[in-house]
Amino acid sequence: MNYEKDKSLQYFNTFGIDVKAESFVEVQSVEELQNVLVENKKPIFILGGGSNLLLTKKVKGLVIHNSIFGKKVERDFSKSIYVSAGGGENWHEFVLWAIKKGFGGIENLSLIPGRVGAAPIQNIGAYGVELKDVFHKLEAVELATGKIHVFRRKDCHFGYRESIFKKKMKGQFCITKVYFKLSKNPKLHLDYGAIKQQLEAKKISIPTIKDISKAVIKIRSSKLPDPAELGNSGSFFKNPEISKRQFKQLQKSFSQIVFYPLENGKIKVPAGWLIEQCGWKGKRVGNTGSHAKQALVLVNYGNATGKEVYQLAVKIIDSVEEKFGIKLSAEVNVL
Ligand SMILES: Cc1cc2nc3c(=O)[nH]c(=O)nc-3n(C[C@H](O)[C@H](O)[C@H](O)COP(=O)(O)OP(=O)(O)OC[C@H]3O[C@@H](n4cnc5c(N)ncnc54)[C@H](O)[C@@H]3O)c2cc1C
Repeated sequence: MNYEKDKSLQYFNTFGIDVKAESFVEVQSVEELQNVLVENKKPIFILGGGSNLLLTKKVKGLVIHNSIFGKKVERDFSKSIYVSAGGGENWHEFVLWAIKKGFGGIENLSLIPGRVGAAPIQNIGAYGVELKDVFHKLEAVELATGKIHVFRRKDCHFGYRESIFKKKMKGQFCITKVYFKLSKNPKLHLDYGAIKQQLEAKKISIPTIKDISKAVIKIRSSKLPDPAELGNSGSFFKNPEISKRQFKQLQKSFSQIVFYPLENGKIKVPAGWLIEQCGWKGKRVGNTGSHAKQALVLVNYGNATGKEVYQLAVKIIDSVEEKFGIKLSAEVNVL
């Protein structure tokens, strides 16, 4: 295996933060991964596309870059279809592959950066669809033993930007393959964001999954900064969920508060709105700042360090807590 010492991770994280990995290796198969685990007893960090990461310091130990590829139709039924993808596959390319074959269910998740293996980690979601809606099972190699484990949906404890892999099993597995149940006649999700308006503007009354994907790509491209141009990791914070009681109290002081009632009885308040009310939207602090079009996206204007971005995040958390009594938590993995 080709181990690289003191490898810069600048081009391996979408924030573009220049920190080094003590040791770095790329694996292209489960066998390679298992061999690397036998050869190394250092702390291990699994790296995908680096699009949900804030690197604040040198990464100690070994960074394993998951480049296990392969997409396959596993089982073909009259209405549904089971497909699998290697953990190193690019997520968006996998979505486009499924759409081209006419398999629906993930079109709303178009253009989310990153790799397939990371998608279950935070149960990626966008425009009314979450990974868990189409998830069948996954295979993961246990880092301590090299053994292959299978996790079914109930084992993953999926929640809003959450799974068991961010909690109890954090840092213990490398996800090598994910299986999805897609549909040949999917229920379309058009009610979120501006999908309907986008389709209407194109005079599309009976949309296909390809139309939806195109609409989502157009909306996302107009709203979110492209990491190739401006370093970022998408939404830095999660949208907080608060109790009805706390919400009613807040509404007395902030009658304009934006909110979404949830099925679990809680109220979701958009983090972007809270951050904007505290005056952070579009504000630049040194080499970092909150994006002008999307307040909950923190950006790297060029030479930001991970610490600078982290300090800004802490300031934002403190000011939102002071004004609203709500403590924001990071969606991005801070290392
Ligand atoms: C512009 C932009 C827009 C975004 N929009 C969205 C969005 O709409 N919805 C959404 O949910 N997310 C969004 N994200 C966040 C990000 O794209 C997703 O979280 C994505 O799944 C991260 O994948 P990655 O391969 O880049 O993971 P990485 O950043 O490389 O890793 C993230 C975490 O997962 C772990 N990990 C990665 N791969 C594996 C593996 N194979 N096995 C075990 N652990 C692993 C890492 O150790 C790390 O803790 C956005 C990011 C950007 C930059």
